Amino acid sequence: MSFDRLPQGRPALMWESLASGAAVCQLCFRSCKPAPGQRGFCQVRLNNAGQLVTLNYGYTGAISLDPVEKKPLYHFFPASLTFSVGAPGCNLACLGCQNHDLSRPGQDYFGQASPSDIISQLGSLARQRGAKSFSMTYSEPTVFYEYALDLGLEAAKNGLPVIWVTNGSMNPDILAKLNLAAMNIDLKGFTEDFYRQVTSGSLAQVLTNIEKALSLGIWVEVTTLLIPGLNDSQTDLTNLARFLASLSPDLPWHISRFFPRHRQRDIPPTPVSSLLLAREIGRREGLKYVYLGNLQGQDFSDTFCPSCGKRLVGRDGYAISLNLLAESGACPKCQTPIPGRWT
Ligand code: SF4
Repeated sequence: MSFDRLPQGRPALMWESLASGAAVCQLCFRSCKPAPGQRGFCQVRLNNAGQLVTLNYGYTGAISLDPVEKKPLYHFFPASLTFSVGAPGCNLACLGCQNHDLSRPGQDYFGQASPSDIISQLGSLARQRGAKSFSMTYSEPTVFYEYALDLGLEAAKNGLPVIWVTNGSMNPDILAKLNLAAMNIDLKGFTEDFYRQVTSGSLAQVLTNIEKALSLGIWVEVTTLLIPGLNDSQTDLTNLARFLASLSPDLPWHISRFFPRHRQRDIPPTPVSSLLLAREIGRREGLKYVYLGNLQGQDFSDTFCPSCGKRLVGRDGYAISLNLLAESGACPKCQTPIPGRWT
């Protein structure tokens, strides 16, 4: 299958033109206004002679068959595989980015890589490989919106629910157009200062999108990477957990251990004591499912019944060692329903 591509990109959605010739991109909170010949902050949307075009359509920069636990999603078909695709670009610039080769590919990326016309094969390939869902992940799906829309249609044709793993900084209007089944949304901190200085993002936009996703009935789990000295104060964690619990005490919160990366190589890994304290704060604020990630051992990533305390799902890394929810999605001991998609 071939696509009707312009020599310098494919027509973008979600933008308006200005009298000056600039194009206002409406895809995310930045509202970039590139002049003709310029790109937006994400480097993958270009004003081509007054028309906004997307440069990363079909550029599958990463593709893999992953356990859904890797996203991480713990309440969404445990032990299933998710066919995972990412294209280059990102609308944030996190100092500790773990995928910066893909998220900030540089000006020359599109001269070296080639787009692939494999979209019509991905859905069936995913099913052949035993995937139970289709994930847009690794970079930021928002900035490959047009490609993600078509990948989503292909997934739907093959009966595969679609997952986004995202920084949550999109224009909330696009969420209703994507037919998403599940999202893992990064909530990277809980002050605007942190967001501005460490991610170049907007806290308010992420909070809006978490609420919006829940209102659309999308299954949502939230992840926070705990960075020593930057977002781990008790005040910030209490406010963050309180916000999540106010939306729903059933909302799973993943607290991940930080390791030095990219421009944060001078910061040490998160102490285990900080992770345990964050978990305690989450539970104290009313969250029923708080998980610790990037941390081996004990029961850090297991699911327990919030009513009777029975261990319901055991996890060992990305592997499932126990799953008592596969049949009914309820605790077999006390019958308490456990929120999520289990069967
Ligand atoms: S998607 Fe890219 S070009 Fe559009 S507003 Fe966001 S950063 Fe700017």
